[in-house]
Amino acid sequence: MANPNVVINKGADCPLCYAPDPALLIWQNAFCYVVAVDDPDYPGYCRLIVKNHIAEMSELPLAEATYLLRLLLAIEQAQRQILQPDKINLASLGNKVPHLHWHLIPRFIDDRHFPEAVWALPSREPRPHPERQQLLPLLHHAIKVACQQLYSGDLRQ
Ligand SMILES: [Zn+2]
Repeated sequence: MANPNVVINKGADCPLCYAPDPALLIWQNAFCYVVAVDDPDYPGYCRLIVKNHIAEMSELPLAEATYLLRLLLAIEQAQRQILQPDKINLASLGNKVPHLHWHLIPRFIDDRHFPEAVWALPSREPRPHPERQQLLPLLHHAIKVACQQLYSGDLRQ
């Protein structure tokens, strides 16, 4: 395993219980991690993933659920500030991978699926957006700083 800090409670054959690609890892602590989703159609797309193999938000103690939501808001705010998207989509599905994780997807009215969900059939052909791609190092840095600075109370650090 590339990073032994990532897994707490491993689910059988669960892809989110394995260490993420270090090239995609934006930030982590003992509780959760943030990865960039490498999708050229969706620059800035991130996932916030708890390390413990649980399925639902309400399985978390309230303090941890609250902390996770604060991280979610901090990442969303960084996405808004840096990318200035038309919309942010937040989704926690887990039907295929029942390991608690949030999708944070900056949306633009000219993206492949807008106004549908990114998992729908595409509405238009892919189109590169180098101006958005160029902002990703800045975005990832802003997410890292925002997450690092967020007070985590008594949670494991
Ligand atoms: Zn898992």
